[in-house]
Amino acid sequence: MAKIYYLGTCSGTEPMVGMHHCSWILEVNGAIYWFDAGEGCMHTAYTGGIDIMQTRALFVTHPHIDHIGGLPLLLFGINKMEARYSKVLPCDNTLRVFFPEPRVFDAIMTVTAGKQGGKLKFDIDLSVPEDGVIFSDENVTVTALHNRHLKEDGADGVWHSFSYLIQCEGKRFVFSGDVASLTEVDDLIGDGAELLITETGHHRVADVCSYAASRNIKNLRFIHHGREILEGREQAERYVSAFAAAKGFSAVICRDGTWDEI
Ligand SMILES: [Zn+2]
Repeated sequence: MAKIYYLGTCSGTEPMVGMHHCSWILEVNGAIYWFDAGEGCMHTAYTGGIDIMQTRALFVTHPHIDHIGGLPLLLFGINKMEARYSKVLPCDNTLRVFFPEPRVFDAIMTVTAGKQGGKLKFDIDLSVPEDGVIFSDENVTVTALHNRHLKEDGADGVWHSFSYLIQCEGKRFVFSGDVASLTEVDDLIGDGAELLITETGHHRVADVCSYAASRNIKNLRFIHHGREILEGREQAERYVSAFAAAKGFSAVICRDGTWDEI
């Protein structure tokens, strides 16, 4: 059984009580995989009892601050665990990082490790995602597919915003990241998916529900909440519950610090 922790469920808004920007974790057989690293993600995970020193890989959808604002402190936190408690990461003390813009990652490293001459106690194996399978181990296979969230992207054939398919224990989990159109994840969903984690920062709740129902999604999870949810949560929850019940699937507007077992 995979466990999914929703660390941050807000879109890129001003600070909101009880919410942080986008980040979630997949835990399989004790191994930890991060998807986006919005503000406070390390703090929420660590204080929530997640063993961050089981981290194997981090997958970033795109280099906007609401998806990477917590990354310096995520790296700093792992480094601190090594320095203070002599712990190491499970895969040769190396963190695999999939990050679509190396120059931005360089800046993050400067912020995180400037004092240590740019070096941390663990190694980082940095890759720029491209369409196709980008990561595979005994627990998960991760496939990337670019999307059109970033308007300036694509002219030169280089993409900086991705959606991810995670194949795990025979199931398909899809994380849209931010997308211009929900249909951009059609190819990752294929004939259906056990789980779709998606956003309402750029889409209406009703449209997301209809899309999930039309694509054979068994569990729909909302994160990266837009104003429709932030300013009218009760109404949105009523709509989502009634819609999902009528169509026979599960749908939840997630809160920070909650989790699923799927
Ligand atoms: Zn965003």
